Amino acid sequence: MTTHRPPEIVRTKVVATLGPASRAEEAIRGLVDAGVDVFRLNMAHGSIPEHQESLDRIRRVSEATQRPIGVLADLAGPKIRLGELPGGAVECVEGAHIKFVRGTESRAPDEFTTTYAPLIDELAVGDSVMLTDGTISVVVEEKHANEVRCRVIQGGLVRSRQGVNLPGVKLSVAAMSAADWQHAEWAAGAGIDFVSLSFVRSAVEVKLLRELLRTRGSAARVVAKIEKREAIDNLESIVEAADAVMVARGDLGVEIDVAGVPMVQKLIIRTCQRYQKPVIVATQMLDSMQHARRPTRAEATDVANAILDGADACMLSGETAIGEHPVEAVKMMRRIARETEKQYLADRWHYLEGRFQAARGAAGVPVQEFLPAPEFLVEGLHPITQAVVDGASRIAGELDAKLFVVASRSGVTAIARSKRRGAVPTVGLSDDPAALRQMALYWGVTPLANVATPDTSALLEHVTAWGLREGRLQRGDRILLVAGSGFGTGGHNMALVHEV
Ligand code: PGA
Ligand code: MN
Repeated sequence: MTTHRPPEIVRTKVVATLGPASRAEEAIRGLVDAGVDVFRLNMAHGSIPEHQESLDRIRRVSEATQRPIGVLADLAGPKIRLGELPGGAVECVEGAHIKFVRGTESRAPDEFTTTYAPLIDELAVGDSVMLTDGTISVVVEEKHANEVRCRVIQGGLVRSRQGVNLPGVKLSVAAMSAADWQHAEWAAGAGIDFVSLSFVRSAVEVKLLRELLRTRGSAARVVAKIEKREAIDNLESIVEAADAVMVARGDLGVEIDVAGVPMVQKLIIRTCQRYQKPVIVATQMLDSMQHARRPTRAEATDVANAILDGADACMLSGETAIGEHPVEAVKMMRRIARETEKQYLADRWHYLEGRFQAARGAAGVPVQEFLPAPEFLVEGLHPITQAVVDGASRIAGELDAKLFVVASRSGVTAIARSKRRGAVPTVGLSDDPAALRQMALYWGVTPLANVATPDTSALLEHVTAWGLREGRLQRGDRILLVAGSGFGTGGHNMALVHEV
Protein backbone atom coordinates (compact mmCIF):
# COMPACT_ATOMS: atom_id res chain seq x y z
CA MET A 1 0.00 0.00 0.00
CA THR A 2 1.33 3.41 -0.87
CA THR A 3 0.83 6.22 1.56
CA HIS A 4 -0.71 9.27 0.05
CA ARG A 5 1.37 12.42 0.41
CA PRO A 6 -0.31 15.54 -0.89
CA PRO A 7 2.01 17.87 -2.78
CA GLU A 8 3.40 20.79 -0.83
CA ILE A 9 1.36 23.84 -1.61
CA VAL A 10 2.93 27.25 -1.23
CA ARG A 11 0.32 29.97 -1.26
CA THR A 12 2.53 33.02 -1.31
CA LYS A 13 3.63 33.74 -4.86
CA VAL A 14 7.20 34.28 -6.01
CA VAL A 15 8.11 37.02 -8.47
CA ALA A 16 11.63 36.69 -9.92
CA THR A 17 13.50 39.36 -11.85
CA LEU A 18 15.20 38.14 -15.01
CA GLY A 19 18.72 39.32 -15.75
CA PRO A 20 22.05 38.15 -17.10
CA ALA A 21 22.18 35.36 -14.48
CA SER A 22 18.82 33.92 -15.46
CA ARG A 23 17.58 34.86 -18.91
CA ALA A 24 18.88 31.83 -20.82
CA GLU A 25 16.02 29.46 -21.63
CA GLU A 26 17.53 26.66 -19.56
CA ALA A 27 17.87 29.01 -16.59
CA ILE A 28 14.25 30.12 -16.94
CA ARG A 29 13.22 26.47 -16.99
CA GLY A 30 15.19 25.90 -13.79
CA LEU A 31 13.48 28.83 -12.10
CA VAL A 32 10.00 27.67 -13.16
CA ASP A 33 10.75 24.19 -11.83
CA ALA A 34 11.92 25.79 -8.58
CA GLY A 35 8.54 27.51 -8.29
CA VAL A 36 8.58 30.99 -9.87
CA ASP A 37 5.05 32.24 -10.55
CA VAL A 38 5.74 35.58 -12.24
CA PHE A 39 8.83 36.91 -14.00
CA ARG A 40 9.75 40.60 -13.91
CA LEU A 41 11.39 42.17 -16.94
CA ASN A 42 13.21 45.28 -15.76
CA MET A 43 12.74 47.77 -18.59
CA ALA A 44 15.38 50.06 -17.07
CA HIS A 45 17.95 47.69 -18.54
CA GLY A 46 18.22 45.99 -21.91
CA SER A 47 16.61 46.61 -25.28
CA ILE A 48 13.11 45.81 -26.48
CA PRO A 49 14.36 42.95 -28.73
CA GLU A 50 16.07 41.47 -25.67
CA HIS A 51 12.89 41.70 -23.60
CA GLN A 52 10.91 40.18 -26.45
CA GLU A 53 13.41 37.31 -26.50
CA SER A 54 13.02 36.78 -22.74
CA LEU A 55 9.24 36.85 -23.09
CA ASP A 56 9.33 34.26 -25.90
CA ARG A 57 11.50 32.01 -23.76
CA ILE A 58 9.17 32.30 -20.76
CA ARG A 59 6.14 31.51 -22.91
CA ARG A 60 7.88 28.45 -24.35
CA VAL A 61 8.82 27.17 -20.88
CA SER A 62 5.28 27.85 -19.68
CA GLU A 63 3.94 25.83 -22.60
CA ALA A 64 6.38 22.96 -22.03
CA THR A 65 5.67 22.76 -18.29
CA GLN A 66 1.92 23.33 -18.68
CA ARG A 67 2.09 26.08 -16.07
CA PRO A 68 0.57 29.53 -16.53
CA ILE A 69 3.41 31.96 -15.76
CA GLY A 70 2.81 35.70 -15.50
CA VAL A 71 5.14 38.31 -16.94
CA LEU A 72 5.53 41.76 -15.44
CA ALA A 73 7.09 44.56 -17.49
CA ASP A 74 8.50 47.08 -15.05
CA LEU A 75 8.69 50.63 -16.43
CA ALA A 76 11.54 52.77 -15.09
CA GLY A 77 9.30 55.84 -14.71
CA PRO A 78 10.82 59.18 -13.74
CA LYS A 79 14.02 57.76 -12.29
CA ILE A 80 16.74 60.38 -12.38
CA ARG A 81 20.27 59.25 -13.12
CA LEU A 82 23.65 60.90 -13.07
CA GLY A 83 25.33 61.61 -16.38
CA GLU A 84 28.85 60.49 -17.21
CA LEU A 85 31.43 61.38 -14.60
CA PRO A 86 35.03 62.18 -15.52
CA GLY A 87 36.86 58.85 -15.38
CA GLY A 88 33.63 56.97 -14.64
CA ALA A 89 33.69 57.51 -10.87
CA VAL A 90 34.26 60.32 -8.40
CA GLU A 91 34.98 60.24 -4.67
CA CYS A 92 32.71 62.60 -2.72
CA VAL A 93 34.50 63.70 0.43
CA GLU A 94 32.50 64.59 3.51
CA GLY A 95 32.43 68.36 4.00
CA ALA A 96 33.60 69.07 0.44
CA HIS A 97 31.41 70.74 -2.19
CA ILE A 98 30.00 69.45 -5.47
CA LYS A 99 27.70 71.14 -7.96
CA PHE A 100 24.91 70.08 -10.28
CA VAL A 101 25.18 71.80 -13.66
CA ARG A 102 23.05 71.97 -16.78
CA GLY A 103 23.81 69.98 -19.89
CA THR A 104 25.12 66.48 -20.38
CA GLU A 105 28.83 66.96 -19.92
CA SER A 106 30.70 67.52 -16.69
CA ARG A 107 34.03 69.28 -17.08
CA ALA A 108 35.45 68.69 -13.60
CA PRO A 109 35.29 65.95 -10.95
CA ASP A 110 33.11 68.13 -8.72
CA GLU A 111 30.58 68.82 -11.52
CA PHE A 112 27.58 66.51 -11.87
CA THR A 113 25.03 66.34 -14.67
CA THR A 114 21.76 64.38 -14.56
CA THR A 115 19.19 62.97 -16.96
CA TYR A 116 16.63 65.44 -15.58
CA ALA A 117 17.10 68.81 -17.28
CA PRO A 118 14.97 71.00 -14.94
CA LEU A 119 16.75 69.74 -11.81
CA ILE A 120 18.72 72.97 -11.35
CA ASP A 121 15.48 74.98 -11.38
CA GLU A 122 13.51 72.71 -9.07
CA LEU A 123 16.01 72.24 -6.27
CA ALA A 124 15.88 74.69 -3.36
CA VAL A 125 18.39 75.61 -0.67
CA GLY A 126 18.12 73.04 2.10
CA ASP A 127 16.98 70.16 -0.13
CA SER A 128 18.78 66.83 0.23
CA VAL A 129 20.00 64.87 -2.76
CA MET A 130 20.87 61.20 -2.31
CA LEU A 131 23.27 59.29 -4.51
CA THR A 132 24.32 55.65 -4.75
CA ASP A 133 21.18 54.13 -3.25
CA GLY A 134 21.13 56.62 -0.39
CA THR A 135 24.61 55.91 0.90
CA ILE A 136 25.85 59.34 -0.18
CA SER A 137 23.96 62.50 0.65
CA VAL A 138 24.51 66.14 -0.21
CA VAL A 139 22.53 69.20 0.79
CA VAL A 140 21.85 72.25 -1.39
CA GLU A 141 23.62 75.34 -0.03
CA GLU A 142 23.56 77.83 -2.90
CA LYS A 143 21.43 78.18 -5.96
CA HIS A 144 22.57 80.07 -9.08
CA ALA A 145 21.16 80.45 -12.58
CA ASN A 146 23.15 77.58 -14.04
CA GLU A 147 24.39 75.57 -11.11
CA VAL A 148 23.40 74.33 -7.68
CA ARG A 149 26.15 74.11 -5.09
CA CYS A 150 25.91 71.33 -2.49
CA ARG A 151 27.86 70.25 0.55
CA VAL A 152 28.64 66.56 1.00
CA ILE A 153 27.08 65.32 4.25
CA GLN A 154 27.86 61.63 3.80
CA GLY A 155 30.71 60.81 1.46
CA GLY A 156 31.64 57.88 -0.75
CA LEU A 157 32.39 56.75 -4.29
CA VAL A 158 29.89 57.81 -6.98
CA ARG A 159 29.78 56.19 -10.41
CA SER A 160 28.41 57.37 -13.74
CA ARG A 161 24.68 56.83 -14.40
CA GLN A 162 23.84 55.85 -10.82
CA GLY A 163 20.39 56.78 -9.52
CA VAL A 164 19.61 60.13 -7.94
CA ASN A 165 16.93 60.33 -5.25
CA LEU A 166 15.38 63.57 -4.06
CA PRO A 167 13.52 62.75 -0.86
CA GLY A 168 10.54 65.00 -0.37
CA VAL A 169 11.30 67.25 -3.36
CA LYS A 170 8.23 67.74 -5.57
CA LEU A 171 9.34 67.43 -9.17
CA SER A 172 7.45 68.46 -12.30
CA VAL A 173 8.88 65.50 -14.22
CA ALA A 174 6.32 63.57 -16.30
CA ALA A 175 5.13 60.23 -14.90
CA MET A 176 6.25 58.46 -18.05
CA SER A 177 9.24 59.27 -20.24
CA ALA A 178 9.36 58.68 -23.99
CA ALA A 179 11.10 55.38 -23.27
CA ASP A 180 8.33 54.38 -20.83
CA TRP A 181 5.71 55.04 -23.53
CA GLN A 182 7.64 52.90 -25.97
CA HIS A 183 7.98 50.11 -23.43
CA ALA A 184 4.29 50.27 -22.53
CA GLU A 185 3.32 50.09 -26.19
CA TRP A 186 5.56 47.10 -26.67
CA ALA A 187 4.07 45.46 -23.57
CA ALA A 188 0.55 46.01 -24.90
CA GLY A 189 1.39 44.54 -28.29
CA ALA A 190 3.36 41.62 -26.85
CA GLY A 191 0.55 40.44 -24.55
CA ILE A 192 2.38 41.20 -21.29
CA ASP A 193 0.30 40.33 -18.20
CA PHE A 194 1.31 43.09 -15.76
CA VAL A 195 2.86 46.50 -16.33
CA SER A 196 4.28 48.33 -13.34
CA LEU A 197 5.09 52.01 -13.08
CA SER A 198 7.97 53.21 -10.90
CA PHE A 199 7.88 56.35 -8.76
CA VAL A 200 4.10 56.75 -8.96
CA ARG A 201 2.95 59.95 -7.22
CA SER A 202 -0.80 60.05 -7.84
CA ALA A 203 -3.77 58.00 -9.03
CA VAL A 204 -3.89 60.01 -12.26
CA GLU A 205 -0.55 58.52 -13.32
CA VAL A 206 -1.87 55.00 -12.79
CA LYS A 207 -5.01 55.79 -14.80
CA LEU A 208 -2.90 57.27 -17.60
CA LEU A 209 -0.94 54.04 -18.00
CA ARG A 210 -4.07 51.95 -17.87
CA GLU A 211 -5.68 54.14 -20.54
CA LEU A 212 -2.63 53.75 -22.74
CA LEU A 213 -2.77 49.97 -22.39
CA ARG A 214 -6.53 49.71 -22.93
CA THR A 215 -6.55 51.87 -26.06
CA ARG A 216 -3.96 49.48 -27.49
CA GLY A 217 -6.11 46.48 -26.74
CA SER A 218 -4.14 45.24 -23.75
CA ALA A 219 -5.80 43.70 -20.69
CA ALA A 220 -2.55 43.96 -18.71
CA ARG A 221 -2.98 44.75 -15.03
CA VAL A 222 -1.37 47.94 -13.82
CA VAL A 223 0.93 47.67 -10.82
CA ALA A 224 1.67 50.88 -8.89
CA LYS A 225 5.14 50.91 -7.33
CA ILE A 226 5.06 52.76 -4.05
CA GLU A 227 8.49 54.31 -3.56
CA LYS A 228 7.89 58.02 -2.98
CA ARG A 229 6.63 60.12 -0.09
CA GLU A 230 3.97 61.59 -2.37
CA ALA A 231 2.67 58.09 -3.09
CA ILE A 232 2.29 57.42 0.62
CA ASP A 233 0.43 60.70 0.99
CA ASN A 234 -1.95 59.62 -1.83
CA LEU A 235 -1.96 55.95 -0.92
CA GLU A 236 -5.71 55.26 -0.81
CA SER A 237 -6.48 56.78 -4.20
CA ILE A 238 -3.46 55.11 -5.81
CA VAL A 239 -4.38 51.69 -4.42
CA GLU A 240 -7.96 52.21 -5.56
CA ALA A 241 -6.83 53.12 -9.09
CA ALA A 242 -4.26 50.33 -9.46
CA ASP A 243 -4.91 46.65 -10.17
CA ALA A 244 -2.01 45.65 -7.95
CA VAL A 245 0.67 47.32 -5.87
CA MET A 246 4.37 46.88 -5.18
CA VAL A 247 6.09 47.89 -1.96
CA ALA A 248 9.27 49.02 -3.75
CA ARG A 249 11.51 49.14 -0.73
CA GLY A 250 14.71 49.87 -2.64
CA ASP A 251 13.91 53.42 -3.63
CA LEU A 252 11.37 53.82 -0.85
CA GLY A 253 14.15 53.40 1.70
CA VAL A 254 15.98 56.33 0.17
CA GLU A 255 13.01 58.57 -0.58
CA ILE A 256 11.83 58.27 3.03
CA ASP A 257 13.83 57.53 6.17
CA VAL A 258 14.80 53.87 6.00
CA ALA A 259 13.66 53.54 9.62
CA GLY A 260 10.11 54.23 8.47
CA VAL A 261 10.02 51.48 5.83
CA PRO A 262 8.76 48.61 8.05
CA MET A 263 5.64 50.44 9.19
CA VAL A 264 4.97 51.93 5.75
CA GLN A 265 5.13 48.38 4.37
CA LYS A 266 2.40 47.36 6.80
CA LEU A 267 0.31 50.41 5.95
CA ILE A 268 0.53 49.72 2.20
CA ILE A 269 -0.35 46.05 2.65
CA ARG A 270 -3.30 46.83 4.93
CA THR A 271 -4.61 49.34 2.42
CA CYS A 272 -4.31 46.75 -0.35
CA GLN A 273 -6.22 44.29 1.81
CA ARG A 274 -9.07 46.78 2.34
CA TYR A 275 -9.27 47.44 -1.41
CA GLN A 276 -8.64 43.79 -2.31
CA LYS A 277 -5.59 44.52 -4.45
CA PRO A 278 -2.77 41.98 -4.76
CA VAL A 279 0.44 43.36 -3.25
CA ILE A 280 4.06 42.42 -3.94
CA VAL A 281 6.80 43.07 -1.38
CA ALA A 282 10.06 43.79 -3.18
CA THR A 283 13.78 44.33 -2.82
CA GLN A 284 16.54 42.84 -0.69
CA MET A 285 14.33 40.05 0.63
CA LEU A 286 17.14 37.49 0.35
CA ASP A 287 19.83 39.96 -0.71
CA SER A 288 22.81 38.09 0.70
CA MET A 289 21.89 35.10 -1.49
CA GLN A 290 23.32 37.00 -4.44
CA HIS A 291 26.59 35.47 -3.21
CA ALA A 292 25.71 33.05 -0.42
CA ARG A 293 23.81 29.77 -0.53
CA ARG A 294 21.91 30.57 2.63
CA PRO A 295 20.12 33.74 3.66
CA THR A 296 20.75 35.65 6.87
CA ARG A 297 18.35 35.07 9.77
CA ALA A 298 17.13 38.62 9.29
CA GLU A 299 16.27 37.95 5.64
CA ALA A 300 14.39 34.73 6.43
CA THR A 301 12.46 36.66 9.05
CA ASP A 302 11.78 39.49 6.60
CA VAL A 303 10.12 37.11 4.13
CA ALA A 304 8.02 35.56 6.91
CA ASN A 305 6.99 38.95 8.25
CA ALA A 306 5.98 40.19 4.81
CA ILE A 307 3.69 37.15 4.53
CA LEU A 308 2.26 37.75 7.99
CA ASP A 309 1.69 41.39 7.04
CA GLY A 310 -0.47 40.06 4.19
CA ALA A 311 1.78 40.11 1.12
CA ASP A 312 0.39 38.18 -1.84
CA ALA A 313 3.79 37.80 -3.43
CA CYS A 314 7.43 38.30 -2.54
CA MET A 315 9.90 39.46 -5.13
CA LEU A 316 13.52 38.60 -5.88
CA SER A 317 15.60 41.22 -7.69
CA GLY A 318 19.40 40.95 -7.80
CA GLU A 319 19.09 37.47 -6.26
CA THR A 320 17.77 36.06 -9.54
CA ALA A 321 18.88 38.77 -12.02
CA ILE A 322 22.60 38.88 -11.32
CA GLY A 323 23.11 36.54 -8.37
CA GLU A 324 25.15 33.39 -8.18
CA HIS A 325 22.32 31.20 -6.87
CA PRO A 326 19.02 32.13 -8.53
CA VAL A 327 17.40 28.69 -8.17
CA GLU A 328 18.45 28.36 -4.52
CA ALA A 329 17.00 31.80 -3.79
CA VAL A 330 13.62 30.81 -5.24
CA LYS A 331 13.59 27.51 -3.36
CA MET A 332 14.56 29.23 -0.13
CA MET A 333 11.84 31.84 -0.50
CA ARG A 334 9.26 29.11 -0.98
CA ARG A 335 10.59 27.11 1.97
CA ILE A 336 10.25 30.10 4.25
CA ALA A 337 6.78 30.79 2.88
CA ARG A 338 5.66 27.20 3.46
CA GLU A 339 6.88 27.17 7.05
CA THR A 340 5.26 30.53 7.76
CA GLU A 341 1.96 29.61 6.16
CA LYS A 342 1.67 26.44 8.29
CA GLN A 343 1.40 28.51 11.47
CA TYR A 344 -0.44 31.34 9.88
CA LEU A 345 -3.14 29.18 8.38
CA ALA A 346 -3.75 27.16 11.52
CA ASP A 347 -5.20 30.35 12.89
CA ARG A 348 -6.59 32.04 9.75
CA TRP A 349 -8.52 28.93 8.83
CA HIS A 350 -10.62 29.12 11.92
CA TYR A 351 -11.03 32.83 11.79
CA LEU A 352 -12.15 33.28 8.24
CA GLU A 353 -13.64 29.95 7.42
CA GLY A 354 -16.01 29.52 10.26
CA ARG A 355 -14.41 27.64 13.12
CA PHE A 356 -14.47 30.40 15.64
CA GLN A 357 -14.61 27.97 18.57
CA ALA A 358 -11.18 26.53 17.94
CA ALA A 359 -9.63 29.79 16.89
CA ARG A 360 -7.49 30.22 19.99
CA GLY A 361 -5.64 26.96 19.59
CA ALA A 362 -2.06 26.08 20.29
CA ALA A 363 -0.75 27.85 17.22
CA GLY A 364 -1.74 31.03 18.92
CA VAL A 365 -0.45 33.51 16.38
CA PRO A 366 -3.28 36.04 16.20
CA VAL A 367 -2.59 36.88 12.59
CA GLN A 368 -6.06 38.18 11.93
CA GLU A 369 -5.32 41.24 13.96
CA PHE A 370 -2.82 42.34 11.33
CA LEU A 371 -5.14 41.87 8.39
CA PRO A 372 -8.27 43.97 8.10
CA ALA A 373 -11.31 42.57 6.32
CA PRO A 374 -11.85 43.61 2.70
CA GLU A 375 -14.02 46.73 2.53
CA PHE A 376 -14.34 47.56 -1.14
CA LEU A 377 -15.43 45.56 -4.15
CA VAL A 378 -12.82 44.91 -6.80
CA GLU A 379 -13.59 46.66 -10.07
CA GLY A 380 -15.58 44.29 -12.24
CA LEU A 381 -16.73 42.12 -9.34
CA HIS A 382 -20.49 41.73 -8.93
CA PRO A 383 -21.66 42.18 -5.32
CA ILE A 384 -23.48 38.84 -5.62
CA THR A 385 -20.19 37.16 -6.50
CA GLN A 386 -18.46 38.74 -3.52
CA ALA A 387 -21.19 37.53 -1.15
CA VAL A 388 -21.19 34.02 -2.61
CA VAL A 389 -17.38 33.80 -2.37
CA ASP A 390 -17.51 34.94 1.27
CA GLY A 391 -20.26 32.49 2.18
CA ALA A 392 -18.64 29.63 0.32
CA SER A 393 -15.30 30.35 2.02
CA ARG A 394 -17.03 29.76 5.32
CA ILE A 395 -18.67 26.57 4.11
CA ALA A 396 -15.32 25.31 2.80
CA GLY A 397 -13.78 25.69 6.25
CA GLU A 398 -16.78 24.19 8.01
CA LEU A 399 -16.67 21.08 5.81
CA ASP A 400 -12.89 20.80 5.74
CA ALA A 401 -13.00 20.99 1.96
CA LYS A 402 -9.84 20.09 0.08
CA LEU A 403 -10.30 22.47 -2.86
CA PHE A 404 -12.10 25.73 -3.43
CA VAL A 405 -12.85 26.10 -7.12
CA VAL A 406 -13.81 29.43 -8.66
CA ALA A 407 -14.87 29.82 -12.25
CA SER A 408 -13.20 33.12 -12.96
CA ARG A 409 -13.19 34.18 -16.58
CA SER A 410 -11.34 37.46 -15.98
CA GLY A 411 -9.63 36.38 -12.76
CA VAL A 412 -11.47 38.92 -10.63
CA THR A 413 -13.43 36.31 -8.66
CA ALA A 414 -10.12 34.60 -7.92
CA ILE A 415 -8.87 37.87 -6.37
CA ALA A 416 -11.89 38.06 -4.08
CA ARG A 417 -11.30 34.50 -2.92
CA SER A 418 -7.54 35.07 -2.58
CA LYS A 419 -8.02 38.11 -0.37
CA ARG A 420 -10.12 36.09 2.11
CA ARG A 421 -6.88 34.26 2.88
CA GLY A 422 -8.73 30.99 3.31
CA ALA A 423 -6.65 27.93 4.09
CA VAL A 424 -8.48 25.69 1.62
CA PRO A 425 -6.39 25.80 -1.58
CA THR A 426 -8.07 27.64 -4.41
CA VAL A 427 -8.26 26.64 -8.05
CA GLY A 428 -9.02 29.44 -10.51
CA LEU A 429 -10.67 28.18 -13.68
CA SER A 430 -10.68 30.22 -16.86
CA ASP A 431 -10.69 29.60 -20.58
CA ASP A 432 -8.65 32.76 -21.11
CA PRO A 433 -4.88 32.04 -21.02
CA ALA A 434 -4.14 35.69 -20.17
CA ALA A 435 -6.45 35.54 -17.13
CA LEU A 436 -4.73 32.33 -15.99
CA ARG A 437 -1.33 34.00 -16.21
CA GLN A 438 -2.61 36.90 -14.10
CA MET A 439 -3.97 34.46 -11.52
CA ALA A 440 -0.40 33.19 -11.13
CA LEU A 441 0.19 36.26 -8.92
CA TYR A 442 -2.79 35.76 -6.61
CA TRP A 443 -2.11 34.33 -3.16
CA GLY A 444 -3.30 30.74 -2.75
CA VAL A 445 -4.69 30.45 -6.28
CA THR A 446 -3.67 27.68 -8.69
CA PRO A 447 -4.68 28.66 -12.22
CA LEU A 448 -6.24 25.86 -14.26
CA ALA A 449 -7.44 25.93 -17.86
CA ASN A 450 -11.17 25.36 -18.10
CA VAL A 451 -13.00 22.84 -20.26
CA ALA A 452 -14.86 24.17 -23.25
CA THR A 453 -18.36 23.41 -21.97
CA PRO A 454 -19.49 25.75 -19.21
CA ASP A 455 -21.79 23.00 -17.89
CA THR A 456 -21.42 22.46 -14.13
CA SER A 457 -21.04 18.69 -14.10
CA ALA A 458 -18.41 18.78 -16.86
CA LEU A 459 -16.57 21.40 -14.88
CA LEU A 460 -16.62 19.31 -11.71
CA GLU A 461 -15.44 16.25 -13.61
CA HIS A 462 -12.58 18.24 -15.09
CA VAL A 463 -11.42 19.58 -11.72
CA THR A 464 -11.83 16.22 -10.00
CA ALA A 465 -9.77 14.43 -12.63
CA TRP A 466 -7.07 17.08 -12.31
CA GLY A 467 -7.13 16.96 -8.50
CA LEU A 468 -6.83 13.15 -8.40
CA ARG A 469 -4.03 13.20 -10.96
CA GLU A 470 -2.11 15.88 -9.05
CA GLY A 471 -2.59 14.22 -5.67
CA ARG A 472 -4.65 17.17 -4.46
CA LEU A 473 -7.79 15.08 -4.00
CA GLN A 474 -8.77 11.64 -2.79
CA ARG A 475 -12.06 9.80 -3.01
CA GLY A 476 -14.48 11.13 -0.40
CA ASP A 477 -12.92 14.62 -0.33
CA ARG A 478 -15.19 17.59 -0.53
CA ILE A 479 -14.75 20.46 -2.90
CA LEU A 480 -16.46 23.82 -3.09
CA LEU A 481 -17.39 25.31 -6.43
CA VAL A 482 -18.36 28.92 -7.01
CA ALA A 483 -19.77 29.61 -10.45
CA GLY A 484 -22.66 31.20 -12.31
CA SER A 485 -25.80 29.11 -12.69
CA GLY A 486 -26.36 30.66 -16.11
CA PHE A 487 -29.65 32.19 -15.09
CA GLY A 488 -30.84 34.92 -12.76
CA THR A 489 -27.98 37.36 -12.32
CA GLY A 490 -24.81 38.75 -13.81
CA GLY A 491 -22.70 37.51 -10.91
CA HIS A 492 -21.58 34.10 -9.73
CA ASN A 493 -24.71 33.12 -7.88
CA MET A 494 -23.98 29.51 -7.06
CA ALA A 495 -21.95 27.74 -4.39
CA LEU A 496 -21.94 23.98 -4.76
CA VAL A 497 -20.51 21.29 -2.49
CA HIS A 498 -19.30 18.18 -4.22
CA GLU A 499 -18.02 14.91 -2.78
CA VAL A 500 -15.43 13.19 -4.90
P1 PGA B 1 13.47 48.87 -8.84
O1 PGA B 1 12.13 48.88 -8.00
O2 PGA B 1 14.18 47.61 -8.54
O3 PGA B 1 13.00 48.99 -10.23
O4 PGA B 1 14.17 50.10 -8.37
C1 PGA B 1 12.02 48.22 -6.79
C2 PGA B 1 12.44 49.07 -5.62
O5 PGA B 1 12.75 50.26 -5.76
O6 PGA B 1 12.42 48.51 -4.54
MN1 MN C 1 12.61 51.45 -7.51
